[in-house]
Amino acid sequence: MVTFLAGGTGTPKLLDGVDAAFDPEELTVVANTGDDVELGGLLVCPDLDTVLFRGGGVLDRERWWGLDGDTTATHDELDRLANVAGLDAGPRYLSPERQTAGRRLARWRRFSGVAEFMEIGDRDRAVHVTRTSLLDEGHSLTEVTRTLSQAFDLDVDLLPMSDDPVATIVHTDAGAMHFQEFWVAHRGAPAVEDVEFRGADTATPTDAVRDALSDPVVIGPSNPVTSIGPIRALSGVDAALDDTPVVAVSPFVEDEVFSGPAAALMRGTGRDPSTAGVADAYPFADAFVLDSDDGTDLDRPVVRTDTRIDTPEDSRRVIRAVANALREVA
Ligand code: GDP
Repeated sequence: MVTFLAGGTGTPKLLDGVDAAFDPEELTVVANTGDDVELGGLLVCPDLDTVLFRGGGVLDRERWWGLDGDTTATHDELDRLANVAGLDAGPRYLSPERQTAGRRLARWRRFSGVAEFMEIGDRDRAVHVTRTSLLDEGHSLTEVTRTLSQAFDLDVDLLPMSDDPVATIVHTDAGAMHFQEFWVAHRGAPAVEDVEFRGADTATPTDAVRDALSDPVVIGPSNPVTSIGPIRALSGVDAALDDTPVVAVSPFVEDEVFSGPAAALMRGTGRDPSTAGVADAYPFADAFVLDSDDGTDLDRPVVRTDTRIDTPEDSRRVIRAVANALREVA
């Protein structure tokens, strides 16, 4: 059994090639939920959903979120209505008192659905309605994720990191904002001053996550701050990673990031935005997979390969490197 820690791009890309070295039935994927938001009353879990849709063969692979070929009739109508009604497009947070009222799992990331600042496709919305309704019926996020995994015919065991609320809040020169406001509404433009995982001091990993962390762990090429950071902020996770073999794939080639806001977030949280900074951030990692063009000198075993992942064959190549690195340290 092997456990992957996932955000919404790097690790899902890596999972495409997983059967080159692992039996998918023996894999657990623990997904970050710090990026989740409640939008117009629906709980949206972007990282869980990317793994879900990828596993179900229905992911939009251009964007790495949403369903391939989905329509946006409802989203477009929300936008049109807000426009004709003269309503500001937001992001529109619910009032501070409402942030901690209502559905517990949605704390500190509750947005009104007016104008819907994140684009939710029509079929995608059906997933959020089902998830939120099952939560309201009394099921945990872990249970609901299992149900959705069956519906999408996933072969891996997909787990949310926690059944408790954790909200990734980015503190910037333009004020504190939820990660989705920072990334979707502002395209990562505000200068990052700090990143907070609100709720993490009382949130716990689920029993299923604790069990999964006793297996060897692969940290895919995910954003160390906002994808892996929230998982690590839960009590006991770093200690569990210390006690088990861990292989990490760098999301950088030296100081070049493949995509997304990882560099600005690392810089903003006092880390070097580079492979060396990732290695410093992951003291529990026993080995790394780095790009062939990445000459970073690390104090731990390194397996090098071309780590750019555009095709399933690329994923298989990187997965084989991960398996080789695991064999060295397991
Ligand atoms: P997010 O939830 O969308 O931020 O996704 P993740 O945290 O899972 O992944 C984002 C990270 O994936 C970024 O830091 C990228 O540098 C990295 N990444 C994206 N594409 C590739 C790739 O092809 N190869 C590698 N090694 N990293 C990648």
